[in-house]
Amino acid sequence: MANHNKIYVDGRWTASSSSAWLEVINPANESPITRVPAGSAADVALAVEAAARAFDTWANTPASERRALLLRIADLMQARRGDLIRAVSESMGCPLHIAGWLQVDGPIAAMRLFAEHTGITEETAEHGHSLVWREAVGVCGFINPWNYPLHQFVGKVGAALAAGCTMVVKPSEQTPLQDYLMAEIFHEAGLPAGVFNLVPGRGTEVGRALCEHPLVDMLSFTGSTRAGIEIAKACAPTVKRVTQELGGKSPYIITEDCDFTAAVRYGVDDVMINSGQTCTALTRMLVPQSRYDEALDIIRTRVAEIEVGMGENAFMGPLSSARQWQQVQDYIRIGLEEGATLVCGGVGKPDGIAEGYFARPTVFAHVTNDMRIAREEIFGPVLCVIAYDDLDQAVAIANDTPYGLSSGVYAKDQQQALKIARRIRAGLCFVNGGEFNYRAPFGGYKQSGNGREFSHHGVEEFTEIKSAQLGAP
Ligand code: NAD
Repeated sequence: MANHNKIYVDGRWTASSSSAWLEVINPANESPITRVPAGSAADVALAVEAAARAFDTWANTPASERRALLLRIADLMQARRGDLIRAVSESMGCPLHIAGWLQVDGPIAAMRLFAEHTGITEETAEHGHSLVWREAVGVCGFINPWNYPLHQFVGKVGAALAAGCTMVVKPSEQTPLQDYLMAEIFHEAGLPAGVFNLVPGRGTEVGRALCEHPLVDMLSFTGSTRAGIEIAKACAPTVKRVTQELGGKSPYIITEDCDFTAAVRYGVDDVMINSGQTCTALTRMLVPQSRYDEALDIIRTRVAEIEVGMGENAFMGPLSSARQWQQVQDYIRIGLEEGATLVCGGVGKPDGIAEGYFARPTVFAHVTNDMRIAREEIFGPVLCVIAYDDLDQAVAIANDTPYGLSSGVYAKDQQQALKIARRIRAGLCFVNGGEFNYRAPFGGYKQSGNGREFSHHGVEEFTEIKSAQLGAP
């Protein structure tokens, strides 16, 4: 807590040059937790210069040393697991008992996995009379959202550290707390000064300055497609590499002959977990017309079991902010106006809850794919159920979206499911209830972004490829 009034630059906690602050609000009770500086472009400049000074040494640190440091960082994250869980839970609203397995344990494991990839810059291939190898891309700027704040932090920072990059991180205005803990962990682990720098602040000030700074070689962003487009434009004049993890409106095809109850329940849980604030959420459930009413019965049963709150049995906490709550209410109204049938939920807070940005798990039936609720990302606990007549039509509906981040298929067997998965234009496919895997690449097609995070592919994004053409000695 002691450092929340500072920024972390060049290995030191230091005052921001800005006198503005960002209040961090607990969305479960609407009360302020703490405040952090709303940093300035001058803060960004100091941080970027520190990262640029640290780059040469860090990029040339032997892979074995970078590996040992990443493992030490993962150990320290494990030791401070409770602090990380509280930080995420309090600032973005995920119930404590869920935040551990959903928001924190995966990122700790991912940090450990990144240690396996530090050798990427020490491998050399021979192509004819050329040698080819990878080098760290340079100074990176990272801009993150609030929905899985530690996951997004580790996906960028862990990969960049493994590749030998230095960096400046801007967390979301709403959720900077786990980034402060991570800065403390890096400090304690002995990460050299300047390799990691933390400047909280607004997108329009700190984010913008990171995009425009000529010493930043690469900008990696996770957030809305709207901001992703602005960021790519702001990076263009300095020709930075830009990777983007953006929004989604992901389809989920359930076949006629699969384990139907399991498939439908999985789809409901996938959308409602994290209060629907998951970029990969399978928000368009495609159900065969022949079993449509049965699907709605299964959905009603599952949703009735979902407890909303922050208690030990709660499956859904609040939305992360008043703004997000309002956005969800607006979309529920739009769905009603468009003529979709409300199966459960609806506008307003759940019965008996007055305080906090809690919303009702909401399901719409008789949705057609041209409705706004089927085309636009709601980013809340709202599921659309769409009927299809045959699998060709299901695939066509699945692909009829500007997005392409995620998808799901539940079929009778894996072979049938994989056949359908190959036809969907999206970066991920969850097959027959498969779980998220930090060893696999993560990223989208179309307007869901560019580039991949996690795994060997995620580390490759942070490298340049060099070739040396050998002449006679
Ligand atoms: P957002 O785009 O409003 O903000 C994300 C970050 O970008 C914040 O740190 C913000 O300060 C910054 N920002 C905003 N405008 C900027 C600008 N013009 N220049 C520089 N920085 C700017 O998104 P959000 O509301 O925080 O997050 C929700 C969105 O993120 C959803 O659309 C969701 O789908 C998407 N998301 C995508 C992924 C993914 O991996 N594909 C993961 C999580 C969230």
